[in-house]
Amino acid sequence: MNEETIMDYYLQMGISREVFLYGEAVLAELEERFAGIDETAEYNQLKVLRAMQENRVSEACLLGTTGYGYNDIGRDTLEAVYASVFHTEDALVRPQITCGTHALALALISNLRPGDELLSPVGKPYDTLEEVIGIRDSIGSLKEYGITYRQVDLLPDGGFDYESIRQAVNEKTKLVTIQRSKGYQTRPTLSVDAIGELIAFLKGIRPDLICMVDNCYGEFVERREPTDLGADLCVGSLIKNPGGGLAPIGGYIAGRQKYVENAAYRLTSPGLGKEVGASLGILPQFYQGLFLAPSVTAGALKGAILAANLFERLGLSVIPDGKESRHDIIQAVTFRAPEGLIAFCEGIQAAAPVDSFVRPEPWDMPGYDSRVIMAAGAFVSGSSIELSADGPLKPPYTAYFQGGLTWPHAKFGILKALQHCVDAKAVHLP
Ligand SMILES: *Cc1c(COP(=O)(O)O)cnc(C)c1O
Repeated sequence: MNEETIMDYYLQMGISREVFLYGEAVLAELEERFAGIDETAEYNQLKVLRAMQENRVSEACLLGTTGYGYNDIGRDTLEAVYASVFHTEDALVRPQITCGTHALALALISNLRPGDELLSPVGKPYDTLEEVIGIRDSIGSLKEYGITYRQVDLLPDGGFDYESIRQAVNEKTKLVTIQRSKGYQTRPTLSVDAIGELIAFLKGIRPDLICMVDNCYGEFVERREPTDLGADLCVGSLIKNPGGGLAPIGGYIAGRQKYVENAAYRLTSPGLGKEVGASLGILPQFYQGLFLAPSVTAGALKGAILAANLFERLGLSVIPDGKESRHDIIQAVTFRAPEGLIAFCEGIQAAAPVDSFVRPEPWDMPGYDSRVIMAAGAFVSGSSIELSADGPLKPPYTAYFQGGLTWPHAKFGILKALQHCVDAKAVHLP
C-alpha cells in the first residue's frame, strides 16, 4: 500500500486532508522519540518472555480450576511470573481482585492494623482512595478501623517536600503510599528514579517503613519498575497496562513475601491465603495479555505523545508537554471551554471499534462535583488501556486521554478527536 491509499482510507473514515497532513508533519518530528519507545518495548518484551521461560510456563498452566482452586498450577505460575517481572519475592495476581482500587485497598488494609498510620508523601491520592482511607467518610474505610492518615503535599515545582516528610513520619507510621501516575491531577507523574530517591529517603528515616507504590498506568513505560528501586509493594489493575487489553478483570500486588501474604490472607481468609481461588478459564487472557503488555503500552505511549504535540502546536496547554520524558500513559489536554472537551471526547468515541455510533453525553457521576464526559468504546468495559478519554465539565475543561491497543488505532483515534475539535471550531489548524 502506498501513502496515497492510506490517506484515502483516512479520508473515507472522516479525517480531512488537512488534519491528516498536519498529523503526518508532526509525526515526522517524533521519529527519534518513537524509536526510544520501541527500544523500551523490546527490553520489556524480553523481560516478560524470560520470566515466562524461567518459570516454565506450560500448556497445562493455561487450563483453569474450579471450586476451591487447590493446586492451580496456572495461577501459581502466573504469580511467579509476575514476581519475576517485578523482581520481587512474591505476587498476588487474581481475577478475584475486582479492580485497581480493590487491589490498593487490599494491600493497605491487610498490612495496616488499628493504631497504625498511613502516610502519602506525594499529596492527595487518587479519588477512589479517598473513600478507602476515609478522607471522605465511607463504610469500611481505614479510618473506621482506627487507622489514621497523614499527607504531605508536593512542592509547587512538583518536587518532594523532604523536610515536611521527615516531620510527618512518627512512631505510628507503618506504611507509605506513593502514587506514580498523576491520575486526574495536574502534578507531574513521578519517574521510577524519583520514586527510588523518595524511598531511599524514607528508609533512611525508618528502615521498617513499608513503601507501597500505586503503579497504575505506569507498568512497562520504563525499563525499571518501582520494585527495582526499593518499593516493598507495587500494586495495579489488569484492565490497564499489564493486562495488555486482554485481561477482562483483575489486579496484582507484587512485593515482599510477608506483605503479599498478608494481602492473600485478607483477600481469601485467614488460614487459606493463596491456596484457594479458582482461576476458572481466565488464565490464557492473563498470560497472553501480560505477554502483549510491553507492545500495547508502547502504542498507547506513542498516542499520548502524538496528542501532546498535535494540540500543543495549536496553542493548547498539555500535560506532559510535547517534549517531556514519560512515566505513565495519561495525556491531559486543556481546552479552556466546554466545546473543545466535548468535541475531543466525541472524536475518541467515534474512533472506537465498539459503540462508535453513540455520542457521549456529560452526566452527573457519583462522587464528582461536576458533570463528567467519558468516551470509551472498549472490548472490556471500563478498560483504560483501550483508547479512552474523559474529563469533568468545569474549568479549565481538561480532557484526560489514554490508551490504544495498537499504535495505528491510537493514531487514528487522536486524529479523529482533532478532527472533531476542528469541526467544532474549538481549535484551528496552523
Ligand atoms: C485507575 C487508577 C486507580 C484505580 O483503579 P480502578 O481500577 O479504576 O479502581 C488508582 N490509582 C491510579 C493512579 C489509577 O490510575
